[in-house]
Amino acid sequence: MKEKILAAVQSGEKETIVRTFDIPDIPDDAGLLRVEVSGVCGSDWPDYKKYNGDRILGHEIVGYIEKVGKFAAERWGVKEGDRVALEEYLPCGHCSRCRSGEFRLCAATDKWNGGIRFGHTPITEAPSLWGGYSQFLYLHPNSVFHKVPEHIPAREAALALPLGNGIEWTVNEGGAGPGKTVLIQGPGQQGLGCVLAAKQAGTDCIIVSGLTADKEKLELARKFGADFTIDVQKEDIVERVKEITRGEMADIVIDVASGGPSTVTLAIELVKIKGTIIIAGKKHQEIPGFYSDKLMSKCITIKGVRGHSYKSVERALQMIASSKYPIGEMCTHDFGLNEVDKALKTVGGEGEKGAIHVTVNPWD
Ligand SMILES: [Zn+2]
Ligand SMILES: [Zn+2]
Repeated sequence: MKEKILAAVQSGEKETIVRTFDIPDIPDDAGLLRVEVSGVCGSDWPDYKKYNGDRILGHEIVGYIEKVGKFAAERWGVKEGDRVALEEYLPCGHCSRCRSGEFRLCAATDKWNGGIRFGHTPITEAPSLWGGYSQFLYLHPNSVFHKVPEHIPAREAALALPLGNGIEWTVNEGGAGPGKTVLIQGPGQQGLGCVLAAKQAGTDCIIVSGLTADKEKLELARKFGADFTIDVQKEDIVERVKEITRGEMADIVIDVASGGPSTVTLAIELVKIKGTIIIAGKKHQEIPGFYSDKLMSKCITIKGVRGHSYKSVERALQMIASSKYPIGEMCTHDFGLNEVDKALKTVGGEGEKGAIHVTVNPWD
């Protein structure tokens, strides 16, 4: 094993430097991962625009177990050389959230309230190697693993979390499946994950809406199984959905749009009586024109969601491994460790054009 580790450290607002780190001592209950690739999550961009101390970003992590402590090997069921995908969460394992399978909501890994997780924890927290934009990652005792078959290309394996989100939000929370019409607002990496999830669940009618600039993404949505796509800048989406559903409107509307707040009020128009709206795209602002009486008159359920469950990530990896869908077409850009700044800006719309899912290979 090499003597020093290279990692891309966020050192300011939209600033990254590559730094070297020592190989940490690995206690019996922890391990070390040789990172193969890390995907750039949509949430990395708002994180990159703020600065909360030096840290290594990147939490869609795929790699090989380089070292594993003897207690950790027993507890995790992994050995050196195993290929794994990690979840970003580092849950305590014993609180009521963890014990009921909702470990993503565990306080120990709540990044908004001082919890630790991969791709977010500052380097001042020993042993510093908490993010995927690094050659090696420290495997905390509470790491959550998924085995990755060797035949899956690394950049596709890095889609395990965004596709896991799609399955969680569309199927587990939204209830998509046979007999349902699902409308997905926003054809980015998360929206396309929702399309795949809806298709795999046997959803009767899948509609995806986006902007004129999303033309290629909407085309990919159709390849993944969307029945209709709507360019909201060229068509009246409410009229179009009325026409497609013969006036019924959609059973489930999933808002994964990252633009302004208008998709939320629009979702109330687009959903049918007794339908469900899933809010999964952050707006970072209040919603003007939000009129709660409409929820009552249409008996609408609105659910806020975040992240994925263990089973949704397992399901995502099975879908990727099956090669049933051309999932690799989502992988548009690869960058090396010296280009992490460009990778993040590409996802944020300030770098290269046409990005859907972007990966960083720390050995390039
Ligand atoms: Zn993420
Ligand atoms: Zn917990």
